[in-house]
Amino acid sequence: MTTSPLEDRLSAKLAAQLQELETAGLTRRRRVLDSPCGRLANVDGKEVLNFASNDYLGLAGNADIAQALADGAMRWGAGSGASHLVSGHLAPHEALEKEIAAFTGFPRALTFSTGYLANLAVTPTLAGRGDAVFADKLNHASLIDAMQQAKANGADVQRYPHNDMAALEKMLAASPAAHKVIVTDAVFSMDGDLAPLPLLFTLAERYDAWLVIDDAHGFGVLGRQGKGSLGHFNLPASPRILLMGTLGKAAGVGGAFVAGSETAIEYLLQKGRSYIFTTAQPPAIACALSKSLQLIKDGDALRANLMARIGQLRDGLADLPLKLLASATAIQPLIVGDNEAAVALAKALWERGLWVPAIRPPTVPPGTARLRISVSAAHTEADVTRLVTALKELS
Ligand SMILES: *Cc1c(COP(=O)(O)O)cnc(C)c1O
Repeated sequence: MTTSPLEDRLSAKLAAQLQELETAGLTRRRRVLDSPCGRLANVDGKEVLNFASNDYLGLAGNADIAQALADGAMRWGAGSGASHLVSGHLAPHEALEKEIAAFTGFPRALTFSTGYLANLAVTPTLAGRGDAVFADKLNHASLIDAMQQAKANGADVQRYPHNDMAALEKMLAASPAAHKVIVTDAVFSMDGDLAPLPLLFTLAERYDAWLVIDDAHGFGVLGRQGKGSLGHFNLPASPRILLMGTLGKAAGVGGAFVAGSETAIEYLLQKGRSYIFTTAQPPAIACALSKSLQLIKDGDALRANLMARIGQLRDGLADLPLKLLASATAIQPLIVGDNEAAVALAKALWERGLWVPAIRPPTVPPGTARLRISVSAAHTEADVTRLVTALKELS
């Protein structure tokens, strides 16, 4: 990097902190892909098998979805031109909301440009002064930021140990708050395990709380027709549930939705700052998502292959000294422990043409650095065999 004297003076503190990251070996670098997201990635002229994306159904590079996007752009133009409440809510957005509501079984849904923005719209809008938020300690960063915003709005926020229902119940019982909001990932993004949603729902009923569920990694993957974690657990589309799902992972495009009761969704529409003060997604994205939703519904064969590949990976690595966490989802974390060892293992795999990211603190707790293996319906049996063989040789 070349810098100017002015930049040097203004940025001395930033430069020092960047140096600290570098010294700690925590500087992150982006790899530039020269290919669409898919089972193979082209990086710097090298072809690697991709176990790094969240494209669980292999839809990100799907030609029919890309065609729907292109057709949508020709019909509706490139941009929406404004936020939804001003003039940016076009017919494809409206149609997509209705399709998502019908698919998830909730009366109504609202779409967002990203999952991050969707999460920011929910918790801080539901919970303010006099209210309380109860959040799992391993919730996604966007839910944590949403919780901090609720706190800034005057809510009491408490975090319970991961999936610890007894601890959560104690907190709920002790809280005098007028409105209580329980917030959880459905599938935890770095561990791949499921929240005990039936128990959480029971507690929500017992303490008359809202239950906010982030199904970023379950939507499209779990349950009949890929309806997600609620479907997996056979939970009802209760008015006390707000279901968030992202559309850039299994759905392969981008954006997110929140589904819930008529009143709750109307409230988010009227009051959710990260819904109101941002430009609506390009309408062609909504066209692409309508196509994607159809492929998800009809995607039992994709999900069957995904589950077969997950089983193959788990069986293949059963005897490894390094252990996979107990995950039944597409997120299969292989715990290494030491930061440098995790990075070294990821590098050795990379050199063999296998792209598996190493995840270190602070994203995961200290001492639990890991390889986060993402399995996709696009992977073949031979792909998973290659990864298993390499891991056996390297560990
Ligand atoms: C990815 C993710 C999000 C954010 O969704 P984006 O659409 O990528 O902004 C939110 N919650 C969880 C659990 C996620 O994994």
